[in-house]
Amino acid sequence: MTIRPNSLEARDIAYHLHPYTNAAKHQTEGPLVLTGGEGVYVTDASGQRYIEGLAGLFSAALGFSEHRLAEAAYRQMKTMPFYHAFGHKATEPGIALAERLIAMAPVPMSKVFFANSGSEANDTAVKLIWYYNNALGRPQKKKIISRLRGYHGVTVASGSLTGLPYAHRDFDLPLPGILHTLCPHYRRHAEPGESEEAFATRCADELEALILREGPETVAAFFAEPVMVSGGVVVPPKTYFEKIQAVLKKYDVLLVADEVICGFARTGNMFGTETYGLKPDMITLAKQLSASYLPISALMISETIYAAIVAESEKIGTFGHGYTYSGHPVAAAVALEALRIYEEDGILDHVRAVAPRFQAHVARLGNHPLVSEARGVGLVAGLELSPDKTTAFDPSLLVASQAARFAQNHGVITRGMNDTLSLCPPLIISEAEIDELMQRIERALDDTR
Ligand code: PLP
Repeated sequence: MTIRPNSLEARDIAYHLHPYTNAAKHQTEGPLVLTGGEGVYVTDASGQRYIEGLAGLFSAALGFSEHRLAEAAYRQMKTMPFYHAFGHKATEPGIALAERLIAMAPVPMSKVFFANSGSEANDTAVKLIWYYNNALGRPQKKKIISRLRGYHGVTVASGSLTGLPYAHRDFDLPLPGILHTLCPHYRRHAEPGESEEAFATRCADELEALILREGPETVAAFFAEPVMVSGGVVVPPKTYFEKIQAVLKKYDVLLVADEVICGFARTGNMFGTETYGLKPDMITLAKQLSASYLPISALMISETIYAAIVAESEKIGTFGHGYTYSGHPVAAAVALEALRIYEEDGILDHVRAVAPRFQAHVARLGNHPLVSEARGVGLVAGLELSPDKTTAFDPSLLVASQAARFAQNHGVITRGMNDTLSLCPPLIISEAEIDELMQRIERALDDTR
């Protein structure tokens, strides 16, 4: 691409360090500058329109032109643009949003703590787990287990929980005491002839072996996304969570459900926790919580954990954790409006109505010569690619990111994550738009061969 001096692209290259981007390549390739959006489409600075096949970052549930969210933000900005929640202060949207989330929670939850990003919500969960075990007088029970290929964010603790090598390498992560167990990717990790159920048993056995090796009295919690989306849309094998939770219960290990992507109808239920029968002690939320129109995240905690925090903070004199923008009233007002729209517009029913068509396309693309496995649930899917369908994954081939580039030429924005091309459109997508998205993806796969 030719980059004109003083263009937006040239200024971006000159001044902007991009998250999750090859910084060297960026100097020659430059950015795709997005300037507007309508429904599930976004438009770049040259006027080219794309279907947003990933809802931004698995997050813009209501697309890119939901004026009711903009109006909710404006209304709140005019009345109380900012106030914090430190030292017994509160704002109405923060109170109403906490109340609404507790009412919606898929399992009984007691309190909500607000942060700004999924990473912060997960970092807060880690700190509260440590605080909780100190409150209970078991300071040695602090280790945390997550899964290889899981994604929980990039801050020091949540980046440690993330089980992807590029999130650790040269950042000196993971932190000691944050451990990883087997990724439940059946096709990749099952032994020849092993059934899904037998593979799930082996995953649970490996978790148990790790807990026993470390000493159950040192292991505090297990973090899991219901579906591991960023790691390549890994859908749990049958009976997986049932068996994992039996191990956690046996050794008194807390379960944190990271619902940052799955939360709010993505998997065909309001929460992935319902889709896969989880019984978490804590739940983290972000992204679709506000349909991504403003940054806000939340951590829901059970009554047992809350009771321990009350006792510990009374002993210390304060609960010494919080962000300037915890429960920011404008972000909270936008989140409340998003939740109101999900309900009023019947977003969950819509997802249930269109998901079969989306998944039928996904299954059909599973027969494409480049696709070694097509996986998905609700409105999220991954197409695992390998040049001859059977070859073991070779990251140097970068076939999924190549396919994503071809998709862009066909007017679809998506991403190659590891070996998998991910699809996670805005929840408002219509059946006609699903057909258009999948036809364009098929053309991109044909180009990639
Ligand atoms: N948890 C999950 C499951 C995610 O997918 C992500 C981001 O993609 C995060 C946590 C981190 O969220 P954030 O990027 O808002 O910090």
